[in-house]
Amino acid sequence: MSIDTNNQAGHPAAYDGFHLQYIAGEWQSGQDDSVNTNTNPYSGDTLVEIQQATDSQLDEAYQAAKQAQKQWAKTTPAERARLMHHVVSVLDQRQDEIVDWLIKESGSTRIKAMVEFGSARAITLEAATFPNRVHGEIRPSNTPGKENFVYREPVGVVAVISPWNFPLHLTQRSIAPALALGNAVVLKPASDTPITGGLLLAKIFEEAGLPKGLLNVVVGAGSEIGDAIVTHDIPSFVSFTGSTSVGKHIGELANGGDYLKQVALELGGNSPFVVLKDADIEQAVKAAAFGKFLHQGQICIAINRIIVEDEIYDDFVERFLAHVKTLNVGDPSKQNTAVGPIINKKQLKSLKEKIAKAQKEGAKMILSGEIKDQVVPPHIFIEVTREMDLSRHEVFGPLVGIIRAKDEEDALSIANDSMYGLSSAVFTTDMQKGLRFARGIRAGMTHINDISVNDESNVPFGGEKNSGIGRFNGEWILEEFTRTHWISIQNEPRQYPF
Ligand code: NAD
Repeated sequence: MSIDTNNQAGHPAAYDGFHLQYIAGEWQSGQDDSVNTNTNPYSGDTLVEIQQATDSQLDEAYQAAKQAQKQWAKTTPAERARLMHHVVSVLDQRQDEIVDWLIKESGSTRIKAMVEFGSARAITLEAATFPNRVHGEIRPSNTPGKENFVYREPVGVVAVISPWNFPLHLTQRSIAPALALGNAVVLKPASDTPITGGLLLAKIFEEAGLPKGLLNVVVGAGSEIGDAIVTHDIPSFVSFTGSTSVGKHIGELANGGDYLKQVALELGGNSPFVVLKDADIEQAVKAAAFGKFLHQGQICIAINRIIVEDEIYDDFVERFLAHVKTLNVGDPSKQNTAVGPIINKKQLKSLKEKIAKAQKEGAKMILSGEIKDQVVPPHIFIEVTREMDLSRHEVFGPLVGIIRAKDEEDALSIANDSMYGLSSAVFTTDMQKGLRFARGIRAGMTHINDISVNDESNVPFGGEKNSGIGRFNGEWILEEFTRTHWISIQNEPRQYPF
């Protein structure tokens, strides 16, 4: 491994050995017969072949995590904070290498890769503050002579399962806080992004000096380790980010066996983007394009439905169409590409089906284009209704429907007409109206005069309804990854009734 060597330009030599897994502090080959073939979604090139892990390697990871966590929980806050700062330094030194991996493994455009790198860096810096922010409490007692203390302790070993769309950030936002708070982690990255969603982070934490066994990255087939990562008796907490269907399954598994486990589920979305009649239309158009087409629309908080008040509907549609036509589509590594490839063939198939269904249901397609390999150009549909498939389900691709709302009340009713409640946005020049509207939306997050795609390391990120349970970032994740323990001291003999 080449983590300590510098190349001639003074930069650290690029990491290698990504065919191996990081288990119990050692880079070892998977023992299963199956292979994960990791491909570049734009070029189709094979990046690396990873022999997958077995159930017994998963067990080895959990045993190592359990052992290592005992010592880690006893380290000083300063030691854990220092480690997080080292991680930030490694991230900074290797920014180009990390961005390059995000482009070639997850099909991120350069713009998206930079956004993702920034988010992963920010949550690491936030996590560096956590060791010193953990605090207990002293609470009064109604029992004479008793003192009540509330301690906060690490939860122990955390299982992390992450998705492929923002692999670096959505993994780091679980593992950095978990480790900073004295826990150990066993991570299963998504099959499409084993490097940016796991192995690359393991290299970074290792280089930063994380003791062996605290972070384990296990790459395995869902059929071999998918359920076992949740049902294993060691993890007491499962942090899952992914689709609603798999998340529900994880929730059932976590509480269906011998042990009850805490779960945080960050699931799918169907974000409404509402443009009211007094909005700055030009600004709303630019926001809608960025919030919809960033990362080809493959973001849980991407705009999924554009809802426009009747009076300005035609004007908005005309300007939105003109703007979206200017977006560059194709090679994600090029500086000015806005829309790159779809992650895999399964997602591509689902998008083709959605395009056909939208037309069959009567939506009018006003923009399309040739689908080349895995690159799908933006597709815009108008006269979309709330009943149509495009409105009801998460699209996860560069297709968007624009719904006409009669008035503000109708717009709110359409916005709330969803089984999801993750993010949302409303455009208006009247802030009182904007706040009223925002508070009327049943969602975890609403942004006035901005896109639905926002994530800041110090404010709560998460959803309601079928979008999940739990919150990331700031003190919300600090609470998730620690457990409270009420300890009382009876300072004088208590009088018992018998
Ligand atoms: P997915 O649910 O297919 O997979 C997520 C992870 O779960 C992957 O690591 C996958 O390998 C694993 N997995 C799949 N089946 C499993 C099983 N039976 N047992 C254990 N693990 C299993 O989701 P995806 O396609 O990777 O990601 C896209 C979805 O994730 C979208 O619905 C999107 O909205 C959602 N998402 C949500 C958030 C959020 O913060 N709410 C963020 C990003 C993505």
